[in-house]
Amino acid sequence: MRPDGACALVTGGGRGIGAAAATALAADGWAVAVVSRSGGNGADLHLAADITDPEAIGEAFATVEKRLGPVLCLVNNAGITADNLALSLADDEWDRVLDTNLTAAFRLTRRALRGMLRARYGRIVNVASVVGPRANAGQANYAASKAGLIGLTKTVAAEVARKGVTVNAVAPGFIETDMTATVPDAVKRAVPARRAGTPDEVAACVRFLASADAGYVTGTTLYVDGGLAA
Ligand code: NDP
Repeated sequence: MRPDGACALVTGGGRGIGAAAATALAADGWAVAVVSRSGGNGADLHLAADITDPEAIGEAFATVEKRLGPVLCLVNNAGITADNLALSLADDEWDRVLDTNLTAAFRLTRRALRGMLRARYGRIVNVASVVGPRANAGQANYAASKAGLIGLTKTVAAEVARKGVTVNAVAPGFIETDMTATVPDAVKRAVPARRAGTPDEVAACVRFLASADAGYVTGTTLYVDGGLAA
């Protein structure tokens, strides 16, 4: 299911959806490296780095390649929220969310493509959201970052499709993680499936998109949302 001597890199893989994705990829035989701010364990290699710091990311990437081989699967999962109505949204809230959710994903994609194009094989999976394609009052910064991530996904996919590299997104709805811990149950019950999803349910989709079986799937967004965006 994965090329020999290569590895997968999952950002924000210390907990939540990223940790589940790291576990799912490991089950498919990938050597998995995880990057998050606070570090952690559970992967073959866990690095503590702030993905908004270009220098730190360059160093982390080099360490991963040295220890586990070329990164032929990249999961841009790390993400944050800083909610406020647009009228009150501070520059800092805008910048932090865009830097983490979109700019860091672009930089990591650009870095990972070097090895993928050389190998003529690669899988990039971006963790977007139903928010972005859909409105969500109080999340203009988050929506812009996730809509941007979907745009990035489509265009990079078109640029590298002929080189054996696929670029896709998953768009989760409400998933039970720290990020949604304060979302009221009533909101989750408004989902057509009448429940929130689990990190494993998102990870299963990441796993598929990262697999050899998904070689002709590129530039698409797979919604994992219990029907929320239907
Ligand atoms: P969590 O808040 O549970 O985990 C976020 C992860 O991202 C953590 O590991 C965190 O690291 C890491 N992270 C955040 N900022 C940085 C940074 N600057 N540098 C390195 N790592 C960072 O989030 P979820 O698992 O819920 O979300 C994962 C992704 O899924 C996000 O992109 C989110 O937007 C998206 N998503 C989530 C939904 C949900 O309902 N949960 C719905 C739709 C999309 P640390 O542990 O060190 O803080």
